[in-house]
Amino acid sequence: MIKRISALTAALALLAPAAASAADGEVNVYSARHYDTDNAMYEEFTAETGIEVNIIEGDADQLIERIKAEGQNSPADILVTVDAGRLYRAEQAGVLAPVTSEQLNQRVPESLRHPDGLWYGLSQRVRGIVYAKDRVDPTEITSYEDLADPKWRGRICIRSSTNVYNQSLVASMIESNGLEATETWAEGLVANLARSPQGGDTDQILAVAAGECDLAVSNHYYLVRLMKSDKADESEAAAAVGFLFPNQDGRGAHANISGAGVIATSPNKDNAIAFLEYLTTDQAQAYFALGNNEFPVVEGIKMDPILVEWGPFETDQINAAKYGENSAEAVKLMDRAGWK
Ligand code: FE
Repeated sequence: MIKRISALTAALALLAPAAASAADGEVNVYSARHYDTDNAMYEEFTAETGIEVNIIEGDADQLIERIKAEGQNSPADILVTVDAGRLYRAEQAGVLAPVTSEQLNQRVPESLRHPDGLWYGLSQRVRGIVYAKDRVDPTEITSYEDLADPKWRGRICIRSSTNVYNQSLVASMIESNGLEATETWAEGLVANLARSPQGGDTDQILAVAAGECDLAVSNHYYLVRLMKSDKADESEAAAAVGFLFPNQDGRGAHANISGAGVIATSPNKDNAIAFLEYLTTDQAQAYFALGNNEFPVVEGIKMDPILVEWGPFETDQINAAKYGENSAEAVKLMDRAGWK
């Protein structure tokens, strides 16, 4: 059985000394992912290993703060979150410990894990370009760089620069194109916006469908979610747009990760590593990716049929750690470019 603990209950439980005991048979997972399939997969881990999984859910930044506040007494064994930019924040907060594992190194591609083993990518999300099928010929745009082309003046929707997905994308562009070229690009993009940034990725897709803009930038799974929606307005909106993987003739599309790292103060370190390794097995990979319509990190895993149809495509092979390392520069650059 999975013990699911809300952040509040867990906070109260911490007051009881027994809650933080390091019994051999458990692993305490602090997770910023909230998918039912994740829980089904954790139950299978318990069935296979006998190790109980205790899940504490919360927002990534809150969980990091909490682990810091708990200090040496933290029961946290593992942090699961989305976006390498957030894993970087955990790294900077000093809460992660390096892990060496043959299995992890074999299963997780080098570009999707931290160079020193502080975290490992477990599924991939691609930040791509959504276009209005009736107003844009997808051959008109092939790269992120093209978003700055003046022909798109007043035609693009993208969410705020405060969003970690955009920060990671810009960080990746700084790595590939340099600071100056990326800043010029950001200025061009801002000049092309149809409206001031607002809402999440789903809102950008809906705005394209509604005719407010002709192009949008979104993580791929938001569109898949709309495509699968039971609500007619959502599935109709999804049908009005297409998704393209940028930079296929160059460095590849920007791929970010859901990932996890072992906590420096982990009271159940062996279990934490076993848990992490389990997440890279074929079985867990399928679950983990399917839960949010993401791409597995391991090749040859069963994927959602929509994703199979979209593929194959190339992804940028720069190490995801760069997204965090360049994030401070990215934020400053977007601010200078007037990206709200
Ligand atoms: Fe998301």
